[in-house]
Order: sequence, then C-alpha cells, then structure tokens
Amino acid sequence: MKCEELDDKETLRFGRRKFLRLGLLGGGASLLSLALPDGLPWAAGKTEALLLSCMDYRLIDEIDRYMTSRGLRDKYDHIILAGASLGAITEKYPAWSKTFWGHLDVAIQLHHINKVIVLDHRDCGAYKVILEKDFYQDPVKETAIHSEKLNELRRQIKAKYPKLEVELLLMDLDGKVENIVSKG
Ligand SMILES: [Zn+2]
Repeated sequence: MKCEELDDKETLRFGRRKFLRLGLLGGGASLLSLALPDGLPWAAGKTEALLLSCMDYRLIDEIDRYMTSRGLRDKYDHIILAGASLGAITEKYPAWSKTFWGHLDVAIQLHHINKVIVLDHRDCGAYKVILEKDFYQDPVKETAIHSEKLNELRRQIKAKYPKLEVELLLMDLDGKVENIVSKG
C-alpha cells in the first residue's frame, strides 16, 4: 500500500504506522534513509527490548502475561514471525528473514533498544512445517532443536550488532518459560 492510497481518516489513525509501512514495504534500507521529523515523541522514544515471538494463537495471552510479569508491559517492540527464531533464519521463507532484520533496524533506530528477546515455544507448528518433523513428543530433542535455532539467530544478531544483548527463551503451552543457554 502506498501512502497516497491511505484515506485521510486512516492517515490520522495510523499516521505513525503509515511511516513505518512505507519504509518496510520499500525494502530494509529505505526506512533508514528517511529523514525523521524532529520533535515528535515517537522519533525520540526509547524502550528496552524487541521481542520476537511466534504467531501461535494459543500463546498470545501467555506472552503478554509473561512480559508483564517481567515489568515490561508496554515497554517493548514486538515482531511476530511463525517459528520465532526459526522464522527469522529459515531459507524456506527468505522474506521473513528480511522482515526480521528490517524491523530490528527500525527498533534500534527509533526506540534505541538494547536487547532482543527471542521467545520460541513448544509444539510449534512452524517448526513442524519448516523442518518436516514433529519434536513435541520428545521434550529433550525439542529443547535441543530450539536451542540450536535460537543460538543460530543469536550468533547472527551478535555478528551484526555486537552490543545488543540477546536473550533466548522457550515457552511451554501452559505459559511457563525456560531460559535457553547461550552458546558461543
Ligand atoms: Zn509456533
């Protein structure tokens, strides 16, 4: 959707998002070349983290509750890709990876985040589709495959943004979250 296609009402409602949309639809680099107007609160805003989570409808409330329990309610940017870490690195859907890096750039530029929280979850449909295997029946193997993908994404983020902290998490279907050890 181009800017001109938005009617006035939508422009008013989504004024800020329109700006982001333009950049993201135009490719990862184009937003960064846009001159951000001075003085607007959103241009100077700061928040702590960008959360990457899966799209799974079963865990939307649990994710919100978890972030709230950490004192982060309304204090994080949020990007959703099916499979979370796997969605960001899979070669099966290369556009997803571009989308992730574009959004990470935006979160850094606009909100000066200093941390990326990557939240995978058990019984993830995207893991089944992309890897063509169901790991849910074997929790040890399931943890291992998530650890591998989470750490691969962490390595890629650290290579590009060494100063960013990257936290790796795995949520169960009951909303419980475990830390995944960072390797390398
Ligand atoms: Zn999932």
